[in-house]
Formats: sequence, structure tokens, C-alpha cells
Amino acid sequence: MNLVIGGGKCLSRQRNQDLNVALIREDFPILKRVLRGNRKLVYLDNAATTQKPLSVIDAISNYYKNHNSNIHRGVHQLAEEATIQYESTREKVRKFINARSQDEIIFTRNTTEAINLIAYSWGSKNIGKNDCILITEFEHHSNIVPWQMLAQEKNCNLEYVGMDEDGNFDLVEYQELINLNRVKLVSISQMSNVLGTIVPINRIIKMAHERGIPVLVDAAQSVPHMEVDVQEMDCEFLAFSAHKMLGPTGVGVLYVKREILANMPPFLGGGDMIKEVDKYNTSYNELPYKFEAGTPNIADVVGFGASIDYLNRIGMSAVRTHEIDLVRYTMERMRDIEGITIYGPLQPSARGGVIAFNLGDIHPHDLATIMDDRGIAIRSGHHCAQVLMRRLQVSATSRVSFYIYNNKEEIDLFVQALYDARRLFKI
Ligand code: PMP
Repeated sequence: MNLVIGGGKCLSRQRNQDLNVALIREDFPILKRVLRGNRKLVYLDNAATTQKPLSVIDAISNYYKNHNSNIHRGVHQLAEEATIQYESTREKVRKFINARSQDEIIFTRNTTEAINLIAYSWGSKNIGKNDCILITEFEHHSNIVPWQMLAQEKNCNLEYVGMDEDGNFDLVEYQELINLNRVKLVSISQMSNVLGTIVPINRIIKMAHERGIPVLVDAAQSVPHMEVDVQEMDCEFLAFSAHKMLGPTGVGVLYVKREILANMPPFLGGGDMIKEVDKYNTSYNELPYKFEAGTPNIADVVGFGASIDYLNRIGMSAVRTHEIDLVRYTMERMRDIEGITIYGPLQPSARGGVIAFNLGDIHPHDLATIMDDRGIAIRSGHHCAQVLMRRLQVSATSRVSFYIYNNKEEIDLFVQALYDARRLFKI
């Protein structure tokens, strides 16, 4: 029996690995859009951002219609209601990633801000001259540039772990690098936004811990697509964005192990992060508020709570199974096309719901334009991973990426457009 999801309501408590995609699609108003005259939207750009179900849109609208107020300080009823709603999302996030305590969950604007927070606050205190920060060749710019900035300021080194031909993380080189260098931090994305590579994160963290090295996990592409348990993983830091998991833009999460967070200096100073301010000195608020200065993005945090509810109703293992199925189907169909190059691991189960590719010498932007003419939204470019593009010896790729509402008919339309592009460009 299928798990039935409709109108944002789970009509069955039975867990099953098959999503009822047809019913899920009913919850996403944007999927009814018609583009370019008469083309139904086929949205295959989910690694950039996902679409929002009605329950999330309604939660934000309901917040502004009925509960809008500033949080934490007011004693009036609206302030209390807004605070309860905002803080209830913190608890939902805690449960979703299995953190020990709400103190460990900090709301930021996005993954990028969360990583920068660690670089500025923890990094400036714990990384010094000639130390080393270790990342990989397939990081997003968000997990490269903050470390370059820190390395330049501290006169320390930034090193890269490579990968094999198929884009798998190189564990042997990793072991050599953590043995040889004064590595003070490993910062790595659990799933590449280009190759789809899912790294053996538990092993990577265990190896780092054997040498006393803390690990930051860029989970922007993993938390939305698979079960993530920070206690099992045992990472020190983890960052992700609400907008990639059905939630609104403008909200990110930074998880930090409590004992580390307790010793970190604040990132931004201002309202809400203080306990007591006098003319020359300030004592700081308790965790996690010490790291949330100023009025936060209250309405969108409330909306984020509704997106976590939605994913919980489906179950993250069903999300993962659905995406592996779509990736397998897409790769099988794409492999038959002459001139196609697919980047990343060959095994569908070794990757997330992302496929980056090139078709002959057609420029990815031209291909994306051909797709767009058919109402198919795909991404083209360097995907904020220029270090990886150089390693792959390309300037750009095309990329399709999936989520819970995508189905095989959409993939058939995409594959048909690839054949059309071949004809058009005579390759
Ligand atoms: N890391 C990875 C792996 C990503 O895919 C992204 C978004 N494409 C980011 C970081 C940055 O996320 P955001 O733009 O929400 O800060």
C-alpha cells in the first residue's frame, strides 16, 4: 500500500518506500504553471532550491495574518504566540537531525552564513599560523571562500582532498593529508551539488577524530534528501538551508556540539544576543540566543517548521528511495544517447538526486535554453564549484536534480529534449 499524502495531510500512517507522487504534486501550486505559451512546468532544478507546498505557504501567510509580532522580549499575547511558533521550529529541527538539545541549533540566513559563522567565530580562535584547513575538490564556493579568507588572515594553509575518476572521495589521500599536515579542521560536503557523490561521512569523521580534528559537515544537499543523525555522525558542526527542503528562502541552520558552542565568541553583536549591557561591557545571552543577534526571519522560520512536518509525514527514507529510483531511470535513459558525458559515481545508490552532464560540444547554456523552450527548468553553469570544474576540465555543465514531486514522465520529456538538441545541433 502506498503512503498517501494529500493537501499536506498524511492519510495513512503506514510507512512505505513508494511515494504517491501524484498526490504529492497536488500540494505544490507552482507545478500547475504553464510556461512558454503551452508547456507544463517540469522543474528539475531542485539542488538550487525546491518548490514549496501549500502547507508552507499557508503557515507563513497565517503567521502574518494572525500572529505577527517580535519574539522573546514582549509580554503581550502576540509576542508569546510568535515566540512559541519560532521556538517550536527549533525543536522540530533538533528532532529532525537528532541533536541532543535545542541549544545546539542556531538559525542563520542560509548554509553560507552558517559556515561563515564558524570561520569567523570558531576559526579565528582555534586556527593559527601554519595550521591547515582541509576541504575537498568538489566543495561549493560556500565551503571554500570562507576558509580562503581565514587562511589569508591567519597565514595558514588550505588543502584539498581529491577524488577518483568517478568522483568518489579519496580516502587514501585523506588519510595521508590528515597524517602529514597540521590539520585543525576538516570541512566537507556530505553530498556534492554537482557530482551527486555521497561521501562516507561516518568514516571520514572517525578518521579525523582519531587525530583530534573536528569536522564541519556541509549538509546543504544531504539533510533535504536523506536521514541525517548528528549524534550518530558525531560531527562538531553541520550546516544546511531551509529552501532546499521545501522551506522558505532566508533561513539556514547551524548545528554545533554544545561543548564547543559554549566556548565560541559571538559572531554578531546587537539585540537579543545580550544578557546585560553597560557603557563599555556586555555579558552575553544563553545558548543559542548568543548567536542570533537582531530580529530574525520569524515568519520564514515558522514556514520552515511546516516544511519539516511535511517531510516527516513522508519519511526521509522514502524520499531517498524515490530519488535513487529516479536517478537510476534517468541514467539508464541518458546512457543510450550518443555524445553524453555524465559526471560522478556510476552507481545510482552512490549519489544523491543530482546528475551533471554535457552533451557533445553543445554549450550547457544553449542546452538549458532548449529545455526552457519546452518548459523544462534545468541548471547550467559552474554550479558554484569552479575548483571542481577545473578538475573536470570543463568550464560548465548542465545539471538536473530531483525531489519528491518529480516523476518518470518528466524525465521522459527531459530525455526527449536531449534527443531534440542533438538533432538541432547536428551531433
Ligand atoms: N553547499 C552546497 C553543497 C550547496 O549545494 C549549496 C547551495 N547550492 C550551498 C552550500 C549554499 O547554500 P545557500 O546558498 O543556501 O547558502
